[in-house]
Amino acid sequence: MGVRIRLGDKTLELIMGDITEQDTDAIVNAANERLIPGGGVDGAIHRRGGPSIAEEARRIGGCPTGQAVVTGAGQLKARYVIHAVGPIYRDGRSGEADLLASAYRESLKRARELNLASVAFPSLSTGAYGYPLEEAAPIALKTILSFLKENESPRLVRMVLWGEKAYEAYRKALVELAKKEGLELEEF
Ligand code: ADP
Repeated sequence: MGVRIRLGDKTLELIMGDITEQDTDAIVNAANERLIPGGGVDGAIHRRGGPSIAEEARRIGGCPTGQAVVTGAGQLKARYVIHAVGPIYRDGRSGEADLLASAYRESLKRARELNLASVAFPSLSTGAYGYPLEEAAPIALKTILSFLKENESPRLVRMVLWGEKAYEAYRKALVELAKKEGLELEEF
């Protein structure tokens, strides 16, 4: 169950579910600057993917906020994990929106560099990092949609939302974005 918009052969879709179960070419991790396994979605990815992901991440050493780096995906179905570092939310006036957009854009650039067809994202920064869902959702979706418009890879971006509250916030933002862009919303 989900909702999607299409742009030619490109798709942006939302589902409610668990990012660690996705069979997209890559899944994105909500990482921290030190790339050390933490809680939330990061903990779930390392638990299910096994130790090779953290080993590779340790060799990379770190990743600044707003950037993204790639490792293999261990035992997960995906081929790669793209570790994106979203901003910690302070007051909404400390550059958070630009950094959040950058974390999505840089993740998509890593996918493009590997010529991947499909990528799944969790809702970056909206857990431990405290970004309000209603503010984060339109930024995430707008950034992804403009990347899909301008690039051939990836062709499918799936946002995997953990729970009803996150799903509804993103769904509302997608309805508004589709209306603004004159795109049709499809339920599946
Ligand atoms: P951050 O530190 O960037 O805020 P978190 O992992 O704390 O990252 O939270 C990011 C989002 O991921 C939250 O909205 C949280 O509910 C969600 N989340 C947690 N576990 C999963 C999962 N297994 N699949 C998808 N999303 C998840």
